[in-house]
Amino acid sequence: AGADAWTGERLKAADKEYVIHSWSVQGALDPLPVAGGSGSWFWDYEGRRYLDFQSQLVNLNLGHQHPKLVEAIRRQAAELCYIGPGFAERSRAELAEMLAGLTPGDLKMSFFTTGGAAANENAVRLARHVTGRQKIVARYRSYHGATAGAISLTGDPRRWAAEPGMTGVVRMLDPYTYRCPAGHPDPCPVCTGGPHLEEILQYENPATVAAVIVEPVTGTNGLLYPPDGYLRSLREVCDKYGILLIFDEVMAGFGRTGEWFACDHWGVVPDILTTAKGLNSGYVPLGAMTVSERISGWLRDNMFWGGLTYAGHPLACASGVASLRIMQEERVVDNARLMGERLGAGLAALAERHPSIGDIRGRGLFYGVELVTDRATREPLVPFNGKGQAALPVTRLLKAAMKRGLYLTANFNVLRLTPPLIIQEQEIDLALEVLDDVLTLADEHYTG
Ligand code: PLP
Repeated sequence: AGADAWTGERLKAADKEYVIHSWSVQGALDPLPVAGGSGSWFWDYEGRRYLDFQSQLVNLNLGHQHPKLVEAIRRQAAELCYIGPGFAERSRAELAEMLAGLTPGDLKMSFFTTGGAAANENAVRLARHVTGRQKIVARYRSYHGATAGAISLTGDPRRWAAEPGMTGVVRMLDPYTYRCPAGHPDPCPVCTGGPHLEEILQYENPATVAAVIVEPVTGTNGLLYPPDGYLRSLREVCDKYGILLIFDEVMAGFGRTGEWFACDHWGVVPDILTTAKGLNSGYVPLGAMTVSERISGWLRDNMFWGGLTYAGHPLACASGVASLRIMQEERVVDNARLMGERLGAGLAALAERHPSIGDIRGRGLFYGVELVTDRATREPLVPFNGKGQAALPVTRLLKAAMKRGLYLTANFNVLRLTPPLIIQEQEIDLALEVLDDVLTLADEHYTG
């Protein structure tokens, strides 16, 4: 039977029987059969439409089925689908050249991977080789990917299942100003970064530390924005001890925060930048590790110990080139900034009506709404790592939003609002309307 013979029911049955889905007990799942998508919307086999306020996994920055992006992939497929990583290939070279121009500071050469985790794996290995040191400082509220090393860098509870994992990872706390991990009011030594890092290094011996890896703006684990000065203070401490600074902008990069890169907000440049997702809007699997002029120089005389069959896959790189061009031609970063202002203003208005909104954090189209049961104590609506019954106050809200045609997700008690960067005013307003409705479900738990 052809593809047309697939009904939603047929798809559901095959999926249930044969597909293993990420991070789930398979029997507990009931995935929605999706028939298609366009722009900021996707739809099911019943013809119900959903406003994609997640951009899927915060990767579909140009929305579903952008015609120019689809056409670029089609053209590359007709020309050359694959050639080994050892050859010089146009889309690969062009994308690397474009990245050298768009990324901040003196970031220059790129190694292309199949996603964010592999970019981080390579960044860590390279940092170890360049410095001749082993340890890596990473943070608790972080996600760096699911492969063996990347999940060890990751702080969030998904790491637990992969332990003991990669050795040599030591951890620092996060600049979570709404819930300062040290219990201090701002500015505190943890939230301001440098002093906390210095203390960790004192115990770890800075001469054994190869790199510090952070998401400049934490994505998955709660949309955490560092205070001004935080990233710069990390930069200074790293420079003092000859430690490399790795920024993981897999989620925050490419316009998500209303600048090309999140670190551009603070003018701080890493030694290694890792990206994926928005790099090509996820139409073909792709990630990148982009390194400074100095490391590029090092690589000219030293072995690069990394490789993948699909390093610099032409279809992926061609979609990267097209994606970055579309971003420039259609002023997508400006749209993210503008629509973000509208979203931010709308959320601030919702906070006046909904006591369960404890904190709103965001720039561009990278927003987190933290839900609490008491604004004074900041008691979270769902506890850290809350699952099942404990997570119910938020899962009920997400389900109600989906029923109203708004696709949302959350990290425990933090709603993630990360729509495609091409979203329009009416769509932002529509999402705010649905949120206004469903937030009453969170308000029901308010005890403050
Ligand atoms: N780093 C960050 C900041 C991410 O958000 C993600 C994915 O969500 C990753 C790394 C892992 O990327 P991938 O799933 O493409 O391996």
